[in-house]
Amino acid sequence: MKVLVINCGSSSLKYQLIDSETEQPMASGLCERIGIDGQLTHKVNGKKLKDEEKNAMPNHEVAVQLVLNELVNEEYGVIKDLSEINAVGHRVVHGGEKFASSVIINDEVIAAIAECNDLAPLHNPANLIGIEACKKVLPNVPMVAVFDTAFHQTMPEKAYMYGIPHKYYEDYKIRRYGFHGTSHSFVSKRLAELAGLDINNSKIIVCHIGNGGSVTAVLNGESVDTSMGLTPLEGIIMGTRSGSIDPAIIEFIAHKENKSIDEIMTILNKKSGLEGMSGLTSDFRDIRKGVADGNPLAKAAMEAYIYNIAKYVGAYTVAMNGVDAIAFTAGIGENAPEVRKGVMAHLGFLGVKADEEACKITAEEIMVSTKDSKVKVFIVPTNEELAIARETKALVG
Ligand code: ADP
Repeated sequence: MKVLVINCGSSSLKYQLIDSETEQPMASGLCERIGIDGQLTHKVNGKKLKDEEKNAMPNHEVAVQLVLNELVNEEYGVIKDLSEINAVGHRVVHGGEKFASSVIINDEVIAAIAECNDLAPLHNPANLIGIEACKKVLPNVPMVAVFDTAFHQTMPEKAYMYGIPHKYYEDYKIRRYGFHGTSHSFVSKRLAELAGLDINNSKIIVCHIGNGGSVTAVLNGESVDTSMGLTPLEGIIMGTRSGSIDPAIIEFIAHKENKSIDEIMTILNKKSGLEGMSGLTSDFRDIRKGVADGNPLAKAAMEAYIYNIAKYVGAYTVAMNGVDAIAFTAGIGENAPEVRKGVMAHLGFLGVKADEEACKITAEEIMVSTKDSKVKVFIVPTNEELAIARETKALVG
């Protein structure tokens, strides 16, 4: 089966055509600046055939059509006819409490996703635009919605309720939802295999640390707690997001600097985290360079970043009354040995022992703890597109 995986943002659209037999991407790419001046990057077998090429893309429908043209291109197309696309899998950010698993998209599902727009105003409307665009251009192809929040719907009430008046849950469904669920699900399953654990009888912690980041406790294959909350702002320090802070800081800055709540939210989402703390950028490689150059703010940011992740691992060990295995994944988790080593150094009391040599390896599925470490620690590269393709295949069959 060939599955087209779509991850649609307000002005961008990422895609991969995945052959579910080989589980490899046949082609992939990215439409950017949709509604502005439009540019397309298209890869076949990992090779860039178009690199940010200007292409008129007044809307998402045109972008989807352009992608389909690339897939059937006479010269370098990977399929002969659009009828070879058996299904489309859409990443949808917020499924609220309505979706605890992936679903086949129909009009009812579209309406229910729209009802979650309030909870993710930047993402869900864009995801819906992608769904509508594909529906128009590929009207007879079944489509599946795969939600970032769905995996976390197994969290118990004590983990998802905030200590605020209950009316806010009743009136607006304010609670912890968690994100990166597709990745946490994919990585926890793979970690169980790698560590030789029965997923139905396992205590796993996944550290998904990229530009955004979240840590999840996975007990017997189910998410029981996660660091992101109502929005992706809560939890660990991230590239540009502050992670958890004292909420009173918002009022404090508002008064001191005569700023609106919207302005402060922009600071917390876009100007904080590693970038804000270091005064450098959100790119971890720049923080690393700052540390090497002896920049004290970069060093402080790196230390706080590591300490923060380690604290969540500690908390989730408590949540599950133990931990069998830990995974590091996403851009920083897969590529930053200093972060893995730093976090593991905090976890010696749990019986975690780092394998110094293995720790240096990056971006590979590999055990980075020693053989006699009580808790097994692995790098498990995430693959959200493949996870979406698998879910889609499972439903469309
Ligand atoms: P997201 O999907 O949240 O945008 P990614 O998972 O792609 O993020 O991760 C991006 C982060 O990974 C960036 O902070 C980047 O600096 C970091 N990263 C990528 N490659 C490396 C590397 N070789 N060494 C250290 N950090 C890296």
